[in-house]
Amino acid sequence: MRAEIVSIGTELLMGETVDTNSTYLATELAKLGVDLRWVTKVGDDPGRLFEALERAWTRSDVTLTSGGLGPTSDDLTRESIAQVFGEEMTVQDEMLKHLRGLFAGRGTPMPETNVKQATLIPSAEAIPNPIGTAPGWWAEKNGHVIVAMPGPPREIQRMWSYEVAPRLKAMNPDVAIVTRTLKTFGISEGGLDEMLTPLFKSENPLLGIYSKQDGIHLRAIATAPTEDEARRLIVPMEREIRRAVGDDAIWGEDDDTPESMTAAVLGQRGLTLGIMESFTGGLLASNLAEVEGSRGFLLGSAVVYRDELLEGHGVDAGLIEEFGPVHERVAEDMARAARKLFDADVGLAVTGIANSPGPDSQGQRAGVAIGTTWVGFATKDGVGSIPGSYPSSRLRIRSRAVTHALLGLIRFLSD
Ligand code: AMP
Ligand code: MG
Repeated sequence: MRAEIVSIGTELLMGETVDTNSTYLATELAKLGVDLRWVTKVGDDPGRLFEALERAWTRSDVTLTSGGLGPTSDDLTRESIAQVFGEEMTVQDEMLKHLRGLFAGRGTPMPETNVKQATLIPSAEAIPNPIGTAPGWWAEKNGHVIVAMPGPPREIQRMWSYEVAPRLKAMNPDVAIVTRTLKTFGISEGGLDEMLTPLFKSENPLLGIYSKQDGIHLRAIATAPTEDEARRLIVPMEREIRRAVGDDAIWGEDDDTPESMTAAVLGQRGLTLGIMESFTGGLLASNLAEVEGSRGFLLGSAVVYRDELLEGHGVDAGLIEEFGPVHERVAEDMARAARKLFDADVGLAVTGIANSPGPDSQGQRAGVAIGTTWVGFATKDGVGSIPGSYPSSRLRIRSRAVTHALLGLIRFLSD
């Protein structure tokens, strides 16, 4: 079944409202195994709306629209569908009675403009919307369906789950889609592409590669009559990916995050963690504190933002003097100091430079380029460190350093 989404509203084209409805519907269609081919955004303009809907209705089995079902003159979805189908909108007594009842219940008179929310065309039936005034339309002609749903996310999501999804599922019963994501770090997108060239030729499962903040994700997506069969299709591909890429480079799967994996690795080993962070300003601890059960392993974090305060927190002043604050030896000593400060099993530290360069600093501070970081680790058995370099905006440098620190820690503890 070929599907298409048309998100309607001038506010979407102005960038005022983010089109979250199409993202929601796209995710939901994937779960049903419906093949989504196009997503279009179109403003509240009768000509362009007609054009977009006619094209969608012609080329797709199912078109889902969002928005334009309000009472005002710029809400034109119903009118446009009627025009595409060449049919006349007429007021439905039952629907009108229901609508008047809604307004009576709120104790306000119904504006006459709302009457159009009680209309249908011969090829459409109303889809109930118990949490709003605008019912949806299920409009079907020549075997092609247009499902018109309201714009407010709460209303479209309810209408989708209770009314539309079950009907589409019944039309498309023998398809299940299963996805499997493997998350890698440390190998470039091009490098992975090269290692996995033969797998990218497979159509089912289909392999996708996505560059994300926490590394490169490899996603296999399989389609089969049942979920079990789809899962079985993915098994050999996953095995082949793990063989080609190496288990070392894969840090997580599906919904895993660097934070959840850190919690899992520390939890499994019953280890506690103490942190010392400089330019990340507490972000490292803050992200870990979001994880359920973080109290079980996270003892504390010292946010030492200014270099001259490191010594007071137990970092060797001689090392800072000799190497400057952004150096592997200092990162390692910070991790050691954090471990001691919190009496933790494991110490983790980040030091680096995210500050915007000054007028004559040439993108450097203390001779080190902006975006340079060192992550330090310490356990009772010794210390270690990894370098990082993220030449991007300030916020991105900080959050990437956090991701890098956590993935580095997982690796360090596994070695
Ligand atoms: P409408 O049904 O066109 O009157 O839209 C009502 C409200 O729903 C708009 O004012 C937006 O706040 C919201 N909305 C409309 N379309 C979308 C969309 N595609 N994604 C998220 N919100 C939307
Ligand atoms: Mg609108």
